[in-house]
Amino acid sequence: MSNQYDVIVVGAGPGGSNAARHFAKQGWKVLMLDRQKFPRVKICAGWITPPALRLLDLKPSDYPHTLQRFSSGSVVLGDRYYETDYGTTASYGIIRQEFDTFLARRAQASGVEFLEEVRIKSIERGDSPDALVRVRSEDGTEWTTKLIIGAGGTGCPVARQWGEKSKEEIIVQATESETKLGADLLRTLTPYYGTTELFPEPDFFGYAWFVTKGDWVNIGIGRFSHRTKQLDTHRDQFMEQLRKLGRLKGIEDKIVPFGRHAYKLYDEVPRKLFGDRFMLIGDAAGFASKWAGEGIRPAIETGEFAARVGNAALKAQNLSANSLSPYKQLCDHAYGPQKDTTMGRLISGLPGSVQTGVGTVICKSDYLRKKLIFEAAFGFEPVRDPVYL
Ligand SMILES: Cc1cc2nc3c(=O)[nH]c(=O)nc-3n(C[C@H](O)[C@H](O)[C@H](O)COP(=O)(O)OP(=O)(O)OC[C@H]3O[C@@H](n4cnc5c(N)ncnc54)[C@H](O)[C@@H]3O)c2cc1C
Repeated sequence: MSNQYDVIVVGAGPGGSNAARHFAKQGWKVLMLDRQKFPRVKICAGWITPPALRLLDLKPSDYPHTLQRFSSGSVVLGDRYYETDYGTTASYGIIRQEFDTFLARRAQASGVEFLEEVRIKSIERGDSPDALVRVRSEDGTEWTTKLIIGAGGTGCPVARQWGEKSKEEIIVQATESETKLGADLLRTLTPYYGTTELFPEPDFFGYAWFVTKGDWVNIGIGRFSHRTKQLDTHRDQFMEQLRKLGRLKGIEDKIVPFGRHAYKLYDEVPRKLFGDRFMLIGDAAGFASKWAGEGIRPAIETGEFAARVGNAALKAQNLSANSLSPYKQLCDHAYGPQKDTTMGRLISGLPGSVQTGVGTVICKSDYLRKKLIFEAAFGFEPVRDPVYL
């Protein structure tokens, strides 16, 4: 009986923690499970947009860890910098191991039971509409739940089982290294300390970054897998570019080895987002934005949507697919339906040289870079509310 829950959330990333917290605040008995022990490293550049903090109802003054305010960003082509300066905070940088642990502990403080180092192996649902979901870990422990939230990111077991993943999905391959070197040292390496330095790939099928946040530097590169043979070759070319710019002076033997991760973008190949007694959120559902790969904010927001819909369904004692279908409507409303758009078709139909030419014009133009790269793709938004500065 004690192993029976109203809601089980698999995965304690930003999506899982936010969903779990919202369910617990409504008074449901919630269990959140993660295969790792927190704090855990999550491969991620760690840039978050102002809406992400607002959705979390998290004011900078209430956050006790690294929170770099970004008031400008640059796009680097060759050795030329094209900077967009907002003159005020327009985005933020966090360290995922700090941020995710903070959110998980905040969920616990709201009443969520959180078990770490528990890898979920199987999920079963009986045939009858009343049958609970049975969740089993690798070591054989078993729980039952009325509703399960798949928040396990790329490798989410709920998405694997019920998400109807397709081979046509567009996947981003990424590799990244994040190291604590101290702000004083980082300031000597770059005149753009405390900003986002973006390096579009020469063919524009991905981008690399050098981001300094507080005492930390994050270096990485992400590319569409269908346009990439060897990600390491692209990373090595990028590291050579950083060497020439002096960004790696004296730190190469200090930086943490690069890790790798792949994830699905929000595109025209959707996963099944919900069904009887389940919903998928965040990366498990493939919600990272198509142009920049922003995944933290969508994970947080879809977690909140799932909790809103799940709360009503639990109250109505009806957890059928039909009862959970408003979840997809909320996602479609916020992120648009997942179908091929005219703009997408037009862009992908252009010859490579034209795509590169258009990309270069956008990067060099002050107006287009600000509107299309920093605002439309990267979600920069000048912060007006003083409590979020
Ligand atoms: C290199 C790189 C850079 C990125 N940079 C940014 C960025 O700067 N800004 C941004 O917004 N997004 C960025 N993203 C995307 C972002 O990291 C993800 O979209 C985001 O983490 C999704 O959150 P989530 O809660 O859905 O899943 P996750 O954060 O992936 O959390 C999933 C959790 O589930 C757990 N889990 C998985 N399987 C199991 C299992 N079987 N049993 C139990 N637990 C399990 C995992 O341990 C993990 O803790 C980046 C991604 C990459 C790869």
